[in-house]
Parts: sequence; C-alpha cells; structure tokens
Amino acid sequence: MRYVSTRGQAPVLDFEQAMLSGLARDGGLYLPETIPVFEGLSDLDGMTYEEVAFRVVRPFTGDSFSNDELRGDSFSNDELRGAIDRAYARISHDARAPLVQLAPGHHLLELFHGPTLAFKDFAMQLIAQLFQIALTRSGQRITIVGATSGDTGSAAIEAFRGIDNVDVFIMYPHGRVSDVQRRQMTTPPAANVHALAVTGHFDDCQARLKDLFNDHGFRDSVGLAGVNSINWARVVAQIVYYFTACASLGMRQTDFCVPTGNFGDIFAGSIARRMGLPIRRLIVATNQNDILHRALTQGEYRTDRVEPSISPSMDIQVSSNFERALFLAYDRDAGAIRQLMDELKQGGFTISQGALEVLREEFRSGRVSEEETLETIRDMRDRTGEVLCPHSAVGVAVAQRHIEPGVPMVTLATAHPAKFPDAVERATGIRPALPPHMADLFDLPERVTRVENDVEALKSLILDRRTN
Ligand SMILES: *Cc1c(COP(=O)(O)O)cnc(C)c1O
Repeated sequence: MRYVSTRGQAPVLDFEQAMLSGLARDGGLYLPETIPVFEGLSDLDGMTYEEVAFRVVRPFTGDSFSNDELRGDSFSNDELRGAIDRAYARISHDARAPLVQLAPGHHLLELFHGPTLAFKDFAMQLIAQLFQIALTRSGQRITIVGATSGDTGSAAIEAFRGIDNVDVFIMYPHGRVSDVQRRQMTTPPAANVHALAVTGHFDDCQARLKDLFNDHGFRDSVGLAGVNSINWARVVAQIVYYFTACASLGMRQTDFCVPTGNFGDIFAGSIARRMGLPIRRLIVATNQNDILHRALTQGEYRTDRVEPSISPSMDIQVSSNFERALFLAYDRDAGAIRQLMDELKQGGFTISQGALEVLREEFRSGRVSEEETLETIRDMRDRTGEVLCPHSAVGVAVAQRHIEPGVPMVTLATAHPAKFPDAVERATGIRPALPPHMADLFDLPERVTRVENDVEALKSLILDRRTN
C-alpha cells in the first residue's frame, strides 16, 4: 500500500517506512493513497480480538517497495500474527476491548485494560512489536521522540522499554500530568527509555517535537522516529476495536462517541467507516478545550489558550490528526491543506463550505464543562456501578445528548478511573484503586530530566543520552 502526505511534498512511502518515520518530511501526515474496503464483515462475530486485528491490519501493511520496486508485504502473515498475539497478551481482559451496557441503547467500549490503563496501549503495544521486527531485519537504530499530555508517553515507555535498537525520549508538560501518569513514565528502569519534563504545556511539547522533525540534519543523524498519534500505524491499530464493537452489536448502523484531543482515536473510526463498517456518525466529545467543537459547529478552526482541565489528555490547542480529516474533506487537495496550515500559524482558518458539509455529514460534536464531567462520573456510578475516568465521562455526557432510538451508541472509555483518582474522588468520594499489577507504582524510584521549552537544549540532551 502506498502512503502519501497530506501536504503533497514528501516522498510516497510504504507501511513500514511510514511507521518508522512518523511525521512526513514536508510537515504533513501520511495517509493511504486509497482506503481498502473490508471484505467479510459478517464473519467477525465471535472471533478473537487478535483474529479481527489480523484481518483489519493486514491490508494496510501490504505491498512494500524500495526505489519504486515492489518487495512484497512489509510483514509476513506469521510476523504480523506473532506481533498481534504478543501485543494483546498484555491486555488483562479476555475480550481485550469489552463492550458493556450503560443504559438502553448506550454501550461503553472499555479500552483501559492494557498495562498503562489507557486506550493508547492498543496501538503502542502493537507498533513496538512491529518496530522490533522491522529493526531486527534491517539492523537500523532509531531514536523515538514523543510528546505527551500523559497517556501516550506512558504507553510508549511501557511498550518500548527494553526493545533493541530503539531509544525513547518522551516530553511531557512539567506539573501537568497526573501522578500515576508521571510515575508510569519515570519508574521503568530500562536504560533505553528517558522521561523529559518540559517547562510549558502539551502544545509546547508538540511544537518542539515538530521542530526536531523539521530539522532534517538532526533527524537523519539520530534516526528520528515518532510514535505520537500522528503515526499512521497507530491509527491502523485503533481501527480494530471499532470492528469488534460493531461485531458485538450485530453489524447494525451504530453511532460512536469519542473523547477527543488529537483526533487520532476518532479518525481511526472514520477510516473504519470508509472501509465499510456500518458507522452512522462519529461524535467528537471535548472538554472546555473545544477547538474541534467550535470548528465543526462554526466552521472556524482557531487556536485559543489551553485551559487545564480534569481530563488532561484532551487539553490541546491544536488537534494534529484533524489535518487528515481535512485532507479527505478537501478531496485530497494537498495545496489547500498547505494553505490552511500556513494560516494556522497566524492563529486559524475558515473551513470551506464544501469541506464543512463533508465533515458534518460524518461528524457531530459536543463540549462538556468540568462540573458536568464530575456530575456524569457521580451519576453513572449511582445508576450503573460503572466508575468512569474523567475523559470517558466527557464522552458519556456528549453521547447522552445524541442518542436516538433504534441506533445503538457506543462511547469509548479511554482510560481507567484509577489513572485519574483525584477527579474521581472529587466526584464520588471514593478513591479508585490501582489494579494489582501496578500496586507498587508509588514505591518505585523516579528518574526524570527537567528541560526548558527550547529545541537546542533538547537536541543536546538527546545526543548526550542515547544508548545506541
Ligand atoms: C489520548 C487520550 C484521549 C484523546 O485521544 P486522541 O486520539 O488524542 O483524540 C482521550 N482520553 C484519554 C484517556 C487519552 O489518553
């Protein structure tokens, strides 16, 4: 499969190359040239998560090439199955992504049974296995640098710790992640993982990450690779649970509501829909950092200050993967996307009427206040016993406004409540306990480096600390 950049000025890559590079060299994001239609939807009922994953991921990894010459698949069937099995063996629920019912017509897709208790494990565990296979084959060494508002970083460090030929540097905004998130990043002792506490917000971390990638000299000298949600391979892994959820509901027209920050998780749903899955609408749920809700309702994509919230993994100013949705809504017009992204540097842009209509046909949106988030956690616990993390609560609150009779609604539960115990305790009076396999998290020593919001400081730190 051939992958093209949303900005149209980077080389066309195959799956493995797109996975290893992350951000395209022209600053854009990779997308398949054509989206494969899925054959055999009706066969999926009752299959294991791993089997569905194999069938969904397989078409995206096919037809690798070098110098325009086809080399067969990026991964053999056995390699891909092995990677999937190893990745999901670490998820502590037989269903991997169980679907539980909250109310008539409303279901919760629990994506928090992985080793770092957030949905990010689904993608990160799989791509770490695929990186391992690809790098062992090529002998190449790489340096992964990531920016995180909390959950990506812990999932990346957990998935890549101890993997050969890879160093991982994770930047997080100092003082703006939860204690559990921070400790998941700072306690693994493996020498190849490095937690960096950056002075600033998540958007500063993300901007510095883009600076590092756009410095092609530095990028090539350390073999820079990215595993942020802009990495296409992560999107692919996240498509799978839309399929298992629809299979559980009998492949009927279904709406999905997704707590959204960088638009990666919900964009996977958009790809699933284009592959032929019967998704009617995808509903973007935001907290008070509502750039996406404003964009979809008003047609204006304009940045604003980040307001820290109790759902910090959604505290964003710019939503990176939205560029992919825009690219498709603008009918793959890379020139138009370059223009919009230039305007974004000046603070924002207006979405064309045509593109806005395309987006609104597929997406709905809603915004939830802090108070309503807490109320939703309290209310759901009283009415169902289900304890939601604040991000999942934002999703449930927006979903409740959009439920229509006859169309099942699935809300994605993106993290375990114990990852955000302060908010949950404020809402319910009860402090959720960590699952047994993480019970010693608060006893382990931490290892972290403070760094200024400055690209040169980051470069010298990375050069200095690499083990490869
Ligand atoms: C990352 C994250 C989100 C947002 O997901 P995106 O793919 O960035 O939209 C929501 N909730 C939790 C718990 C997360 O970790």
